[in-house]
Amino acid sequence: MSNIRVEAVKELFSRKPLVVEAPGEKVSDYYGIHTFGLETMKKYLPTEAYENVKKAVDTWGYIDRRSADSVAAAMKAWAMSFGVTHYTHWFHPLNGSTAEKHDAFFEPTKDGKMFEHFGGKELIQQEPDASSLPSGGIRNTFEARGYTAWDPSSPAFIVEKTLCIPTVFVSYTGEALDFKTPLLKSLFALDEAAVDVCQLFDKDVNKVIATLGWEQEYFLVDEALFYARPDLLLTDRTLMGHASARDQQLADHYFGSIPERVSAFMRDLEFDCFKLGIPVKTRHNEVAPNQFECAPVFEEANLAVDHNQLLMDIMKKVARKHNFRALLHEKPYKGINGSGKHNNWSMLTNTGVNLLAPGTNPKSNLQFLTFIVNTVKAVHDYADLLRASVMSAGNEHRLGANEAPPAIISVFIGQHLTRILQEIEDKVPAVDMTPDQKTELKLNIGKIPQILLDNTDRNRTSPFAFTGNRFEFRAVGSSMNCAAPMTILNAAVANQLREFKVEVDTLIEKGAKKDEAIFRILRKYIIHSKKIFFEGNGYGEEWKQEAERRGLSNIKDAPEAFKTYIDPKSIDMLGRLNVLSERELNARYDIRLEMFAKKIQIESRVLGDLAVNHIIPTVIKYQNRLIENVKGLKDILPANEFADAASYQLNAIRRISKHKALILEMVEEMVNARREANKIEDVRLLADAYSTKVKHFLNEIRYHIDKLELIVDDDLWPLPKYRELLFAR
Ligand code: ADP
Ligand code: MG
Repeated sequence: MSNIRVEAVKELFSRKPLVVEAPGEKVSDYYGIHTFGLETMKKYLPTEAYENVKKAVDTWGYIDRRSADSVAAAMKAWAMSFGVTHYTHWFHPLNGSTAEKHDAFFEPTKDGKMFEHFGGKELIQQEPDASSLPSGGIRNTFEARGYTAWDPSSPAFIVEKTLCIPTVFVSYTGEALDFKTPLLKSLFALDEAAVDVCQLFDKDVNKVIATLGWEQEYFLVDEALFYARPDLLLTDRTLMGHASARDQQLADHYFGSIPERVSAFMRDLEFDCFKLGIPVKTRHNEVAPNQFECAPVFEEANLAVDHNQLLMDIMKKVARKHNFRALLHEKPYKGINGSGKHNNWSMLTNTGVNLLAPGTNPKSNLQFLTFIVNTVKAVHDYADLLRASVMSAGNEHRLGANEAPPAIISVFIGQHLTRILQEIEDKVPAVDMTPDQKTELKLNIGKIPQILLDNTDRNRTSPFAFTGNRFEFRAVGSSMNCAAPMTILNAAVANQLREFKVEVDTLIEKGAKKDEAIFRILRKYIIHSKKIFFEGNGYGEEWKQEAERRGLSNIKDAPEAFKTYIDPKSIDMLGRLNVLSERELNARYDIRLEMFAKKIQIESRVLGDLAVNHIIPTVIKYQNRLIENVKGLKDILPANEFADAASYQLNAIRRISKHKALILEMVEEMVNARREANKIEDVRLLADAYSTKVKHFLNEIRYHIDKLELIVDDDLWPLPKYRELLFAR
């Protein structure tokens, strides 16, 4: 009799690390060769067209048709020099993946021949038949189709033999159907608002970009084991599996050396990334066994988001080449660390100043404090929206579980900054500052230690932590598109900066001096945002109670969290900034709910199938063995010895029957709950039904299966166990 699990483990023994060769001697030899970046553009384009593109990117402007024709011709020539035959508009639909539809470069001529063509028209706009992509009802009402439009701020790139052109995806009525559109709008809003505020400090600032450095966590699992786990194959996570006796208790994986097969995979991945101009710099083991991280150097946020989407794609492909599967799910294994995607975020001026880095003089330090305090207030005021942006069926398992930030949004700033903000609160009077007070405050601000950067105490349990020159948003899930949380953060901060500017201007109009006006408004914000500051252990139980006392929300249920999308406060803010309209927010809310309900539905189906088709037959087989054994003992042993000799077996037979009966009963109840839920048409009620009536069965059924795993003969157990999934490689 063959056991797929045993076969998989055997296959694993035969694996060797692949030999990976660098594409060139040094990284600089091949870095970015597969992207049509500014430098390549300069080489291939007439000067005028190049300048037009550059200007359009810098000023969020349009590119005229003639320049677009030039760019298209240049792109085609460049791509064909790599043997590229097709092109695609590459976009980020709301199902969380990336979409592409490849068209060949060639066009038929009248006389039945072919010629290679790719013009400005094809570059600028396409109409993919994307009617099966989620639109949250937007497309159904008006037009079945949407169109994609070129985003010149993110360079085109080559994957295999296809030229990929980053685009936005919108409906005919102009509504965003993707992640990129609102992201770009939020970046625009942030640029405008931040420049306005910077003008208070430095007249040379005329552009502010958001910077994003993501850290991508993931698990690797051998492909043979992966195929032997239908739950991993179909849901990206294990729906059952008893904890391994050893997992991450010894904390020996984090600093451990990277296993050879894994390091070959990582190098291969990095080579692909480098060719695509993704500056991946850091790689290491993560806390859980078989968990890893990769992080690039930060980039402009829109580009960084594209690079992360691209990386997730490439990672999956390269993993397969190495007989691995990359698991990007937030919680592939119960009871050990999940995977996040920390979003390190800051703002950078055209003058090269990082607005979240302490400066060298009182003026720049006041600017630094202004941006810190405004960011904190934005997070305070829109915490629920930020949480909504990172919630999902997967992240629900992670937030608040092992070594992951809770579903409570708080901000950590470290003791130095805490002291400085306290001082502002204590020393700035509500009205008129005396000259002495001003001098003292400025002097103190001037002393903000430059060493703050090296010196910041790190708090790895905070969902939103200041780390010396940026904030790190740690609640983002590993499989997510960073654009969703970045859009909300940019918008909330833009909104806040606008408010700040108006308040400062008003005080100045009333006769206050500029610095004094700034100090007074900052003080007001510090007091207003007080309850969001938390410097302690965010993973602790006490924090949950403390947060409740402070009135901070702790929403662990995804559908509940998503509700903030259609809160009047969110609609007002995002609408005012022209980032997302009420209609778009309603659509997004529905799509999130629909995705959530579908994920739970799939998980519930897979679990039901596995329970009935894999687990129950296995345990019956084992039970039969026990029964035979008991019968045999009865035949050969005298009655007084039999009871002792058969007691373990009899007990196991009974326990198996008990768990089996409970599993079957609950699977039936779960199927009924699903059947009831599926009758609901309104997606808001549907998601609620899946969350409250179906979801709980997943854990309850699993409990009994995991108990059975401990009873049944290891030889018979059909699914790779946690110890194999976590330690074999
Ligand atoms: P950690 O110690 O948090 O694991 P990593 O080195 O893994 O740090 O990742 C830190 C990330 O923060 C990198 O992507 C880095 O480029 C990024 N980062 C650094 N400075 C900034 C900044 N000013 N804006 C955005 N991201 C930044
Ligand atoms: Mg890191």
